[in-house]
Amino acid sequence: MNNGLNTRAKLASFGFCQEHSCCICENSDETQDHLFFQCDYSQRVLQAVEKWCGFRVDVTMTVLAIPGSRMKGLKQLVHCQLWVSCYYHVWLERNTARLQAVVTSPAKLAERIITDAKTRIMSKVCKTKFGQDSVWLRKWGCLVIR
Ligand SMILES: [Zn+2]
Repeated sequence: MNNGLNTRAKLASFGFCQEHSCCICENSDETQDHLFFQCDYSQRVLQAVEKWCGFRVDVTMTVLAIPGSRMKGLKQLVHCQLWVSCYYHVWLERNTARLQAVVTSPAKLAERIITDAKTRIMSKVCKTKFGQDSVWLRKWGCLVIR
């Protein structure tokens, strides 16, 4: 959120690193904006996540930053968990690419993101009542039958 990740472009600007290209695609300077919003790999991962869940995921989360946002309840929870999972797994994949020179397929990474998000959602479902949003929970395989 505060541009605090040590990307190659950032490290290169301080003289700590010679390389400044993206560890995943090597087609552009590795900035946070590139890694999470512009990198072709990240875009393909996000498209796979969106295809699976059936709605657009706003990775900028601007919709939640707007006072009085229409996004509430379960929809907000799902978006937040997908957002957190996308950032976490793309950064993890970037580190794996840098250290091991291996990149997971976008479809496989999307599966990890969805599994991670489902786990995070299930941990919160028991504490919250979502009423008619239970259709979403059923679709995600997170519905707890009592
Ligand atoms: Zn890239």
